[in-house]
Amino acid sequence: MLEINATETVREGSIFGQISTMDHEQLVVCHDQATGLKALIGIHNTTLGPALGGTRMWPYASDADAITDVLRLSRGMTFKNSLAGLNLGGGKAVIIGDPKLKNEAFLRRFGRFVESLGGRYVTAEDVNMKTSDMEYIAMETRHVTGLPQLKGGAGDPSPVTAYGVYMGIKAAAKKAFGSDSLAGKKIGVQGVGQVGKYLIEYLVKEGAEILITDIFEDKLREISKATGATVVDPNVIYDLPMDIYAPCALGATINDETIDRLKCAVVAGGANNQLKDEGKHGRILMDKGIVYAPDFLINAGGVINVGAEYFGDYHRETVFSQTEKIYDTCLTILEKSEKENIAAQQAAIDVAKARIEAMGRVKLSF
Ligand code: NAD
Repeated sequence: MLEINATETVREGSIFGQISTMDHEQLVVCHDQATGLKALIGIHNTTLGPALGGTRMWPYASDADAITDVLRLSRGMTFKNSLAGLNLGGGKAVIIGDPKLKNEAFLRRFGRFVESLGGRYVTAEDVNMKTSDMEYIAMETRHVTGLPQLKGGAGDPSPVTAYGVYMGIKAAAKKAFGSDSLAGKKIGVQGVGQVGKYLIEYLVKEGAEILITDIFEDKLREISKATGATVVDPNVIYDLPMDIYAPCALGATINDETIDRLKCAVVAGGANNQLKDEGKHGRILMDKGIVYAPDFLINAGGVINVGAEYFGDYHRETVFSQTEKIYDTCLTILEKSEKENIAAQQAAIDVAKARIEAMGRVKLSF
């Protein structure tokens, strides 16, 4: 599930060039000979608070790929956390290598590096990191969140993420169809994993007609049996007429090959980095009259959940009501996009940056 997207033009061969292009505060290089740990921690912006974002482990083809990924992902977290109204900055970590390298010492060593940053960076789960891995990391640092309920954490954030995606879908439907009712709407859900399966429950309750696809047939069979959703082939999901396409699997599924095949009025889903090229594909969607709900806006339920856990102030109802606000924020951003004739992705980034700038000024006063 690598989600490296060509969303930024970066100058190759110069770390400071990349950091300054994307405006990061810090890039931490972590190495431990004994365990074989090689990790990078990207801290993009801490104006709003500690930089929170998950750790992913991936066998990157080169160090340059890993640097690019951690820089893009941590920048995305800055915007996501800002738009969600959180007092959190943006950060992310990547561990380079085969996930089979992980063991207790390896993970605890990584935890020591996180601890060494004194809370400037707070970690959580991401691709190829399991709850059990986070438990080892938590043995060495307080700056970790998304722990299982049995360990005093708030547990799996996916149901909250799915609720936020549902809110985003309804807001985008309101913009596209004049009503946020999803009754009778044909919705294609790509990926029936943690987020997809909870999302489908909300959509079914509203009487939507669901198409589902995944690369695991057993998952599809089970969900189809439970919900009546129609199973479709992963390769044809882009070609089928539908009202709403909800990507909930991979990043970069809106790309040069798929964008002209889409026959929908709305794109709104949980996957991170859906636009392969943020600027280009965001604009093309707009020109085609497709309403796009920016992913980092509508999939923020998970970070709202782990953020509340980190601050030790976790109330499930509050977390859901904060996530519900995604509906209003999404509508505001879609209106701004139309009014200013800019892609929704850009409108969302502008709103996120404006909050950071305003709060930065607030913090200047004594
Ligand atoms: P997951 O691994 O549980 O589910 C992903 C599903 O996509 C799996 O069932 C997988 O088989 C399927 N898939 C993979 N390749 C596919 C393909 N080519 N076609 C169709 N299906 C395919 O992951 P998740 O936690 O549900 O996350 C889904 C997406 O949402 C990811 O992009 C993730 O980064 C993003 N996201 C998740 C959360 C969260 O709280 N879990 C929060 C924010 C963003």
